[in-house]
Amino acid sequence: MTCYYVSMDLPSAAGASPAVPSAAGAFPAIPNAAGASPAIAQWFLLKADHPDALLFLRMGDFYELFFADAEAAASALDIALTRRGEHAGLPIPMCGVPVHAAEAYLSRLIRRGFRVAVAEQMEPAKGRTGKGPLKRAVVRLVTPGTLTEDSLLDAHRPNLLLALASAGGALGTSAGGALGAAWLDVSTGLFETEALATADLPALLGRLEPAEVLAAADLPLGDWSDRRGPAMAAPAPAAAQRRVAEAFGAASLDAFGTFTAAEAVAAAMALDYARATQAGAMPRLSRPQPAGLGAQMMLDAATRASLEITRARDGSTAHTLVAAIGHTLTAPGARMLAAWLGGPLLDPAAIARRQDAWAWMLLQPEALADLRAALRATPDVSRALGRLSVGRAAPRDLAAVGQALAAAEAISLALAGAPMDLAPLNVDPALLELLTRALADTLPARLDDGGVVAPGFDGELDAERRLRDDSRRVIAGLTLDYAQRYGVASLKIKHHAQLGYVIEAPAPAVERLQAHPDLTLRQGMANGARFGNAELADLDRRISEAADRAAAREHLVFATLVQAVLAQSDALGACADTLAQLDVLQSCARLAEGGRWCRPVVTDDDQFCIRAGRHPVVEHALQGTAAFVPNDCDLSHAQRVLLLTGPNMAGKSTFLRQNALIAIMAQAGLPIPAESARIGVVDRLFSRVGAADDLARGRSTFMVEMTETAAILHQAGPRSLVIVDEIGRGTGTLDGLAIAWAVLEALHSQNRCRTVFATHFHELGQLAAHLPRLRPCTMRVKEWRGSVVFLHEVAPGAAGRSWGVHVAQLAGVPQATVRRAAALLNALEKNRHGSPAELPLFAEAVPNTTPDPTPELGPDLLPASPPPDPLRDALHELEPDGLSPRDALETLYRIKALAAVPPAVPRIASR
Ligand code: ADP
Repeated sequence: MTCYYVSMDLPSAAGASPAVPSAAGAFPAIPNAAGASPAIAQWFLLKADHPDALLFLRMGDFYELFFADAEAAASALDIALTRRGEHAGLPIPMCGVPVHAAEAYLSRLIRRGFRVAVAEQMEPAKGRTGKGPLKRAVVRLVTPGTLTEDSLLDAHRPNLLLALASAGGALGTSAGGALGAAWLDVSTGLFETEALATADLPALLGRLEPAEVLAAADLPLGDWSDRRGPAMAAPAPAAAQRRVAEAFGAASLDAFGTFTAAEAVAAAMALDYARATQAGAMPRLSRPQPAGLGAQMMLDAATRASLEITRARDGSTAHTLVAAIGHTLTAPGARMLAAWLGGPLLDPAAIARRQDAWAWMLLQPEALADLRAALRATPDVSRALGRLSVGRAAPRDLAAVGQALAAAEAISLALAGAPMDLAPLNVDPALLELLTRALADTLPARLDDGGVVAPGFDGELDAERRLRDDSRRVIAGLTLDYAQRYGVASLKIKHHAQLGYVIEAPAPAVERLQAHPDLTLRQGMANGARFGNAELADLDRRISEAADRAAAREHLVFATLVQAVLAQSDALGACADTLAQLDVLQSCARLAEGGRWCRPVVTDDDQFCIRAGRHPVVEHALQGTAAFVPNDCDLSHAQRVLLLTGPNMAGKSTFLRQNALIAIMAQAGLPIPAESARIGVVDRLFSRVGAADDLARGRSTFMVEMTETAAILHQAGPRSLVIVDEIGRGTGTLDGLAIAWAVLEALHSQNRCRTVFATHFHELGQLAAHLPRLRPCTMRVKEWRGSVVFLHEVAPGAAGRSWGVHVAQLAGVPQATVRRAAALLNALEKNRHGSPAELPLFAEAVPNTTPDPTPELGPDLLPASPPPDPLRDALHELEPDGLSPRDALETLYRIKALAAVPPAVPRIASR
């Protein structure tokens, strides 16, 4: 057999690739190969092509690692680091993992950011006569973005490799320039592209959550920079187009749609890399699909994080939108639901097609039941196909194809006549028949375990198996025969890895057997000995030959079956896709079945009118404890800005988020938790609800808040939906009020987007008199015995006060502190314009440590709201003598900004 060393042709990223943070620094230069032993010289040769990956070198039943690879892997896997021989006068560090458990170790290494080059033995060790090490070659590069094994993948998420190229082909970061993105999933065959502005890259990364990104080193990837793969040269656009077209047997890329030059370059990069990692084998991929520019609702990374669509803020998947509303029955269905919610559509007609499909299911309960029964028996056929295409299939992957085909047949019958615009489920029926006949009823985990092909399918295999099994019967007969011949009833004939077939006898019989001249002692044991004779040696050869021939024949039959499946891989891929869509649609039907979820009307105008909407995740979490209070939200043209005031815990952020989530679900084509809704397509959705310090990047809460606010003000347009909560909370009261005020004005009059703006500055309610499309609403609360009860109802009007002290009381702040805070607040508000020295604060500052007999706050202690006057306050706080020249200048700017606020600044009437 010839040995081929595959060069992956990927420039080294050793020590530079942030994709292997734990590994990058752990790769010292490879030692000089001069004087290496033959086995180690082979390691050097293979390692030279993969300096930035750990080299798994197959040696018998182990993958061995040497030198720095061994040190890095032993520490990452917590396994023993040993040594093997010497090189250049120093011991060679070595560690190894057993082949049968390699997947688990690979998974840990990949998660730690390593890439692994797997070198296999390219010739059988058995019966080899030549000298020197066995031939070995790298057959695969395992990287985070090109995995296929179930144990390395998350069943409910895609595993995407994303390539990015800039317009013109050369990679670069020309600010605001156009990028081409192409992403593929080797495990399922998905392959899509999109053209986008550089400014939209963070949103794309947030949507795709790629496992590995190929991009120029100077293209910033923000939060995703630790997923950066090795640097790759970008091909010229013409060459890229040709390469991608050729890979799919087309003369031109135009056959698949319209791609920008940058999209074609990115697609070629992704394809080249995927192929290189599979040692040149082309994984099964669907033809690249261009999404065009702006085909989906734009959701930036901050919005996705804040809405917790597929991932909660803590990184978990519990309490996410997908978890609360997902009723899919298969892993591909779960992945597709996440993709639908992650990329809501903009075309009302496409949205209506999805709605029509699940609405039809609702009217056909029997068909729906049959569909669900069939889906429950459907395996993850896309991933099985992925493994089949790269020659890594287990017997159960073939079985998965058969099961999926059987399910598809049943579903075709159940859905006959359905008005659905789905790819056909029918694959050549002969394939199902072939697989049913060919595969055994119970399949082993590995092909090498044998018994994959059903008896009766292949005559030659049956003959080899008979021979092998007959020989086994011969062994059984021989055992009885020898027991009599040698007078040892307890002897056994066993197969030993090195010795072949031997007689094993217990200690008391050893002497007797030694006396027989035709027996040779092969090996002594603690409790007996092993013997051989000429007859056994001959039998050994015959049996092992028959077993080998049977195994070889089974491999051949298996390969033929794999070929038969791959010959239909396009039809199978389309069938798998349809099965996943049907799963999402039946999941939609499940939501709508109870009658509490409705089909929204999605239009091309700027309406936004939701009747009795609910928050799907909060409602789900409240199940069994409290009823969720539904609320309307009308942001239609004349009142497109809803200003929401109310105390903390009243339900503001729940209301905000529920409207954003409803827009997402509606445009994903799903039912929504509301009585009815009309939604004009939202092109961009911004959510700034609840920020946290981003200490890792050195940004305070306020800085995060302002960065996100800036993004909204720069990007939101008349078709956008903006939900903001508590802008200006992270700074001083006056600063905060001024910022919230200015942002609200800008959203209302400049961005002109549909907005829900929640604030604790209830003073902003007065702005309604000046902003014609602003509608103040408040979360209703009821006061009861000095305490506050949240009704969770949104009602017209503005909150009169903040209730902060009441909420502190509810939260369990000690009564003495609560009473003191209430008194101080009263005093502060009465003396808003006096100096602190004039305030009666210090007079009462005696801590009351005895429990209060009447703990509730009485109405007499409720704070009055004085009129805010930011300009006057700023002037009042000014101490000219203490200002540096720079402070003075900044203060002047600030005062000027405050003075720019419209003269009719509303004053809060004292109660
Ligand atoms: P806020 O943003 O005003 O501080 P939240 O929206 O965080 O308040 O709501 C606080 C809690 O109130 C939620 O966790 C939920 O348990 C409950 N809640 C909010 N809205 C509703 C509602 N419409 N119906 C029932 N409970 C609600």
